[in-house]
Amino acid sequence: IKVQDYRPQPFTDFTKEENVQAYQAALAKVRKELLGKHYPLIIDGQEVDTEGKIQSINPCDTSEVVGTTAKATIGDAENALQGAWKAFESWKKWDMDARARILLKAAAILKRRRLEACALMSIEVGKNYAEADVEVAEAIDFLEYYARSAMKYAGFGSSETTWFEGEENGLMSIPLGVGVSISPWNFPCAIFVGMAAAPIVAGNCVVVKPAEDAGLIAGFMVDILREAGLPAGVLQFLPGVGKEVGEYLTTHAKTRFITFTGSRAVGLHINEVAAKVQPGQKWIKRVIMELGGKDGLIVDETADIENAITAATQGAFGFNGQKCSAMSRLIVVDSVYDEVVNGFVERAKALKMGTGEENANVTAVVNQMSFNKIKGYLELAPSEGKVLLGGEATGEANGKQGYYIQPTIVGDVDRNSRLAQEEIFGPVVAVLRAKDWQDALDIANSTEYGLTGGVCSNSRERLEQARAEFEVGNLYFNRKITGAIVGVQPFGGYNMSGTDSKAGGPDYLSNFMQLKTVTERW
Ligand code: NAP
Repeated sequence: IKVQDYRPQPFTDFTKEENVQAYQAALAKVRKELLGKHYPLIIDGQEVDTEGKIQSINPCDTSEVVGTTAKATIGDAENALQGAWKAFESWKKWDMDARARILLKAAAILKRRRLEACALMSIEVGKNYAEADVEVAEAIDFLEYYARSAMKYAGFGSSETTWFEGEENGLMSIPLGVGVSISPWNFPCAIFVGMAAAPIVAGNCVVVKPAEDAGLIAGFMVDILREAGLPAGVLQFLPGVGKEVGEYLTTHAKTRFITFTGSRAVGLHINEVAAKVQPGQKWIKRVIMELGGKDGLIVDETADIENAITAATQGAFGFNGQKCSAMSRLIVVDSVYDEVVNGFVERAKALKMGTGEENANVTAVVNQMSFNKIKGYLELAPSEGKVLLGGEATGEANGKQGYYIQPTIVGDVDRNSRLAQEEIFGPVVAVLRAKDWQDALDIANSTEYGLTGGVCSNSRERLEQARAEFEVGNLYFNRKITGAIVGVQPFGGYNMSGTDSKAGGPDYLSNFMQLKTVTERW
C-alpha cells in the first residue's frame, strides 16, 4: 500500500469570514438533517432497536433533545460479544494493509463530512467552532496515523530479533481477540474513534460503548466506519448505561481486553473487576486506562508574563475546562504572583459565555450531574481561597437555560485543599502561591495524578530540572498544556492518570497485540 508520510490535519482559521459562514451553513444542515435522529445498536452488522432509549440533550439549551440512541440490555451485550468472537475468526486473518485501507477510507469520508461532525458536536456537547474543529482534525489524524502504524506490524518477523546461526527466529505480533472500548463524552468523536480504530486495525474485534451524553456523534462515526467497508461484527455498537452494560462487558469471561477513557473512580472500579478471574476465563485481561488529571502550570519570575497569561487562559477555559489535560492549577512564584494573577483574571473576564452554536468562548457544561458537582466546588471555594472571578453556576446565558457555570478563578488556595487536589472538570481554576521555583515544582508534584503539566520560564536550568522531575505524561514548556496532536505529542498520563499507553504514539497499537516468538532449526 502506497501512502504519503503522515501529516496532522491543519486546523481551520475562524478569523476568516468564509470559514465562519461555512460552519454556520453546516449547523443549519445538521439541524435540518440530523436533529431528532435515532441511532440503533449495531450487532453483527444489523441494526437492533431496543425498548429503552437514551436521550441526548443540548447542554446549552436543555429544552432541546438533540436525538436518541438505543439503550442496550444485558442480552444485547451478550449477543455483541459472541458475535464479535465469530467475526474475529475471519478478521484476524485479514491482511494488515487491507485493514489499514478501511481506516484510510474512513478518514477520507470524515474529511468530506468534517463540518457536519463539528456542527453536531456544537449542538450535542456545546463545543465552540475551534474546539470542535480541532477534535474532528484529531479524529482524522487517529485514523490516518493508526493505519500507517499497523503496517509496521505486518508479517512474520516484524520486530527485530538477533541473528542466530542455524535457525530462523521471528517475533510475530498477533491480535488479542475481542475487547471492549468504553469512551467519555468530552472527546466524543476523536477519542471514541481512536479507541475503536486502533484495536480494530490490529486485527481485534471490539464492542464499543459510547458515553450516554454523546451517543449521536458516536453513531455518526460508526456510520462512517461502516461506509468505509468495515465487515459486520468487527465493531459492535452498543450505546447503553455504563453501570449496566459497561459493568457486564468488563466483568465478562470472554472479554480479552478493556480500553477505557474516563474518570479515575470508574477506571479504578473497572481495573478491579477486570482483575477477578471469572469461571471459564482463560486469560489475564489486559486493561488500558486513560483517566483524569489535576494539571498544573508553573509560572516563575523569569517567564514572559504575557505569554504565561495566554497559556493559562487557553489551557484553563478551552471547552470550559472539560478536558483531562485542562489547566486546573496555576502555580505562581510569589514575586510575580500579583502580576500574573491580575493579568489572568483580566483576560478571563473578557471570555464570553453562550452556546457552542454562537461560538462562545465558554459554553455550558455537559449535564446536570456535572453542573451539580461543579456547583458544589463553587460553594466550597470561599472557604478554601479568595474568589477572584466568577463563582456562580448561573444556569442561564443569553436567555438560554442550560448548564452554565461562570469561568471561576480562586486565588491563594492551599496545596492540600480539595480545590487543589480533586478533579473538578469545569471552568474552575485554583491558583497557588509558591515561595520560589523549587516550591512551585513541589506543589506541582503534590497530587496523585500525572497527566499534563507545564512550565513558563526562561531559565534553561529549571526547564531541564522540570524535564526530569515534573511527574506527568505530557509536559509543555512556554505554551498551553492542552491540545496534544496525534503523532506529534503522544498522549497519556501515569500515576492515577492512567497506564501511560500514549494514544497517538508510535507504540500505541502494541497495547492491542501479543507477541509470539517462532524458532525453526534449519
Ligand atoms: P466517566 O463517568 O468515568 O464515564 C466514562 C465511560 O465509562 C462512559 O461511557 C460511562 O458510561 C462508562 N461507565 C460508567 N460506569 C461504568 C461501569 N461501572 N463500568 C463500565 N463503564 C462505565 O467519565 P466521563 O465523565 O465520561 O469523562 C470525563 C473523565 O474522563 C474525566 O475524569 C477526564 O479527565 C477523563 N478523560 C481522560 C482522558 C485521558 O486521555 N486521560 C481523556 C478524556 C477524558 P455512561 O455514560 O453510561 O455513564
